Amino acid sequence: MTSPSIHPCFLGPYGENDALLEKLVVEFLRDHVYWRRNVHPEDPPAIPTGAAGEPAFRDFEARMRRELHALSASLKRSVPFHSPRYIGHMVSDLLLPGLAAQFLTLPYNPNNVSIDAAPVTIDMELKAGLQLARMFGYVDDPARPDCAFGHLTSGGTLANFQALRLALACKAFPVALRASAPPGIVLPDDDWSAFNLDSKSVVALVDQWNAFLASCPPRERRQWRARLAGHRLESLGLAGFLAAHPDLRSPRVFAPVTAHYSWSKGMKLTGLGRAQLQLVPERGMRTDTDALEEMLARCQREREPVLMVVGVMGSTEFGTIDPLHELVDARERWAGHGLGFAVHVDAAWGGYLTTLFRQPDGGLRPLQDMREEFRDFPAPEVHAAVAALGRADSITVDPHKLGYIPYGAGAFLCRDQRAMQLLAEDADYVFSTDQSPDYFQRFRQLGRYIPEGSKPGAAAAAVYVTHKVLPLDHENFGALPRESIVATEAFRTAATRFSARMQGRLVCKLPFEPDSNLVCLALNPAGNTDVATMNRFVRALHRSLSYDPGQPVQSREFFGSMTTLQPEVMGAEETTRALEALGLDPATLDAGGEDDDRLVILRHTLMNPFLLDTGNGISYLEMYFDYLERQAMALIEKAAAA
Ligand SMILES: *Cc1c(COP(=O)(O)O)cnc(C)c1O
Repeated sequence: MTSPSIHPCFLGPYGENDALLEKLVVEFLRDHVYWRRNVHPEDPPAIPTGAAGEPAFRDFEARMRRELHALSASLKRSVPFHSPRYIGHMVSDLLLPGLAAQFLTLPYNPNNVSIDAAPVTIDMELKAGLQLARMFGYVDDPARPDCAFGHLTSGGTLANFQALRLALACKAFPVALRASAPPGIVLPDDDWSAFNLDSKSVVALVDQWNAFLASCPPRERRQWRARLAGHRLESLGLAGFLAAHPDLRSPRVFAPVTAHYSWSKGMKLTGLGRAQLQLVPERGMRTDTDALEEMLARCQREREPVLMVVGVMGSTEFGTIDPLHELVDARERWAGHGLGFAVHVDAAWGGYLTTLFRQPDGGLRPLQDMREEFRDFPAPEVHAAVAALGRADSITVDPHKLGYIPYGAGAFLCRDQRAMQLLAEDADYVFSTDQSPDYFQRFRQLGRYIPEGSKPGAAAAAVYVTHKVLPLDHENFGALPRESIVATEAFRTAATRFSARMQGRLVCKLPFEPDSNLVCLALNPAGNTDVATMNRFVRALHRSLSYDPGQPVQSREFFGSMTTLQPEVMGAEETTRALEALGLDPATLDAGGEDDDRLVILRHTLMNPFLLDTGNGISYLEMYFDYLERQAMALIEKAAAA
């Protein structure tokens, strides 16, 4: 049964909390209007009091109403994300505090590029970064030099791009510093070692460089700055930088084969090139760390630099969680062998699950405590992975996914804020260039550090206010992922019952154990041994679960999504096991047909907070499996009749 603490959180599938949201919107709209009037109450109205009676005014209003009605009518064709019948992609209902904060902030229109344009919401963005930093186990005390830093982005794609940009800046900085040879700073003996420092040593160099500059008279300081800038990758470009350092090559990025396609985009955007992205094989849908070891060993042997290893917390297709603890261990081990790289965690999807692991005092919950709440969650290796998040160099998380915040709200976090200085852009007309020692003072010039320029302050307000109302620990925000994990466990029970009841008609299997709240189902008509036939069947089933713009939205009882299992991703052993479990003939896999080189499966995102019986006797999960049975049987009968 849904926890009562969730009842006031959302507008609700039925719009149950309409009166509350309406009251908030009206109250704060009026509040905004009073504010306008009170900026200079002595100014008379600029729009004449009788203007609303003018023909042109009425004409404009009529046109506007007509278009708004048309917009409102066409928006009725939207996908009903709010409904517990929607278990397709990574989106659900919106948290009321975030939605109300957005509405409230929009008419003030703050621009979070810098303090001048957003005196209020820029600090909220910096604080939201610290809230998320604390959730992940980073240092969140801005008085400490090693405090983390986080900012919002339009989404996970841009946050991942920012991770690449920062890792590249950190990797190349010591090489540029060597080339500029400032006196008194001890640097590695050669370019290769400088290009392979671990992130702590890079931060130490940034500190030493700042101390050196501070000791110079202003004119010399400017000259030293210019000298370093001339050697930096950011001025030379990758081609110029590598030409100046013949011992170095373009660095590689390792990401699991299931990694989101934003990594491919990021490689193109940074100019590293898609070919430098190396996909690491998986075992059980998680990064195969033995394979990674071999790849790193080869890089070291062949003197191929590595920029970063990406670990995924909640893969987009399968919801699986990489062994992040092993990735950070590998980083430490290889740094000892002279191969330095960063570890970035792409937690765009799964990041907020961390709230379940976090005590209100910031500590990590013991595995045992958590196991009392759930049947199987979390697996010990998932607990170990979450415990290691604080050791990652940077993290991506999407408030607009499991944070239940309106689009576009992604976030980038870096473990040690001192590294951010390497990304700073100077634009005299917007930013003051002083390196203030005060954390907030410095980062209020946000546009210096982020890929974007102008950006919505309303998004920052939504994220910050939501985290204030629901602090990011298991007693508060954690109620939402808890509901989601319990629904996942209920889904698995229902799937097992479904599988038993369909025996002799349909083979239904979970192709792998879900780590989080994303569950896939593989379905094959009983007796079928042909991969292409199964794929046609699942694609047809998926059509009855997808949005059809030509049909009224009510014609769909449920919304799901699909994905595929590729043999390259699963590995030979798992592929054989999956084929066998489904009764498929391995000879029909990749036999040269149109659609037989992979297995098409259904994918379910279980993040709606009202999937389970809320006390009205309805379980949407049970209803879903009934619907699936009817659709599957109709397809099987149709095939038999043909
Ligand atoms: C969704 C997702 C992204 C991309 O995020 P956007 O917000 O869509 O830009 C990146 N990585 C993972 C793992 C994701 O799930």
